Amino acid sequence: MKVAVVSDIHANRHAFEATLEAVAASEASELWCLGDLVGYGAEPDACVELAREHAAVCLAGNHDMAVTGEISLEEFSRGASVAAQWTREVIDPDNMAFLEALSPQGEESEIGLYHGSPRDPVWEYVLSALLAELCMNQQRNRICLIGHSHVALSFARRDGELATGEPRRAGTRLDVAEGEWLLNPGSVGQPRDGDARAAWLLLDLDAMDATFYRADYDVAGAAAAIRAARLPDSLAERLEYGQ
Ligand code: ZN
Repeated sequence: MKVAVVSDIHANRHAFEATLEAVAASEASELWCLGDLVGYGAEPDACVELAREHAAVCLAGNHDMAVTGEISLEEFSRGASVAAQWTREVIDPDNMAFLEALSPQGEESEIGLYHGSPRDPVWEYVLSALLAELCMNQQRNRICLIGHSHVALSFARRDGELATGEPRRAGTRLDVAEGEWLLNPGSVGQPRDGDARAAWLLLDLDAMDATFYRADYDVAGAAAAIRAARLPDSLAERLEYGQ
């Protein structure tokens, strides 16, 4: 089975639709989402509805949990907090109920799924080999999928060596048949790795390889929607830079 993995949609319908189109054209038979359907962007209902329609598995991210009230907004930046409060006001009750039922961690086909990390499914950003090492010491599954940092990357540990890893560009294919792995598809709706395109990952559970992809989307359309909703301008601007 091939699985398309997405994360951090952040209410960016333009980016999510473009990603779903690319996924449909791939050989993926399932879509797994690692959380943060909402927050930052202007179209939370459309994105939750697309996830409800297409995702076989969906985790809760910290932004989803802030919108449902499960966690407080105290640790959020101003822009994130404003967008979360706005989302609470506008989101459809059915979509809110869907978010309330999600968990920040899960397991499918022996793959560990976490929004943040195996150590802290809600908050931890795994951006260094040291943190990856600490996560691997704790993770129960040989391969774990993580989101949250909005950076497409992988970390691996083989033969008792220390974990190593790096950000991954579109087109990179990794053989994950051996070793321990943390794989982050990157963010669909607000990439922060300098590539403005929507990020996703294709995981082949038979061949045991993982391929990183990017999808072009209408960035200007998503930015215009953020401005029309009167959300902070910085949230529109950063989409253009992929930061
Ligand atoms: Zn996020």
